[in-house]
Amino acid sequence: MSLNIKAFCLGPLANNGYLIWDEDSKEAFAVDPPMDAELMASFAARSDLRVTKILNTHGHFDHIAGNALMKKFSGAGVFIHKADLGLLKRGAAHAEMFGLEMDPSPPPDGFLKEGDELILGSGKIMVLETPGHTPGGVSFYTEGDLFSGDSLFEGSIGRTDLEGGDLDSLVDSIRTKLFALPPETLVHPGHGPETTIGREMGGNPFVGGSAARRRDQP
Ligand SMILES: [Zn+2]
Ligand SMILES: [Zn+2]
Repeated sequence: MSLNIKAFCLGPLANNGYLIWDEDSKEAFAVDPPMDAELMASFAARSDLRVTKILNTHGHFDHIAGNALMKKFSGAGVFIHKADLGLLKRGAAHAEMFGLEMDPSPPPDGFLKEGDELILGSGKIMVLETPGHTPGGVSFYTEGDLFSGDSLFEGSIGRTDLEGGDLDSLVDSIRTKLFALPPETLVHPGHGPETTIGREMGGNPFVGGSAARRRDQP
């Protein structure tokens, strides 16, 4: 029994936010609600979805900018890895450095860690710690699908030149956690198009070690 997934590419940094839901119970999780998350909220309302958790892959402002709106809309709790709490708190200040304005995220209602299993109707979502882009970066896995945040992109990986970034950790996270998933797993990244684990294992130049283009969004 697989969960439903809808992607929303929103905001000035072209962020992918996601709604994941269980068809029978209509319970939903929102992953990385970006700026302009009104569109996620209105889709959820139209589809009678009950959003019960807001999950952040990491604390960069572009991935948490819609937390306040989604929480206001749904009452759902905000969940993030503890190591990204500082980034979450300083989100609005970071946005300002990019000339952008956002409602500060509400404080988290709980922290995510490796091995957590989040039950969503008849499905479940596992938390994988994938640090490197940020210290508290996580990915979410549910059978057949991975939400990789800014860890893994199609043909690229997240930047590691921002506060707390570490290239060796990121490559290690991808190799040991993400490339251990079934190759047919569909990867839903924080920016850019979908890919699969198998395609990235075969062709991602960063994880092989050579230099190539990288995405430059925070
Ligand atoms: Zn990003
Ligand atoms: Zn980021």
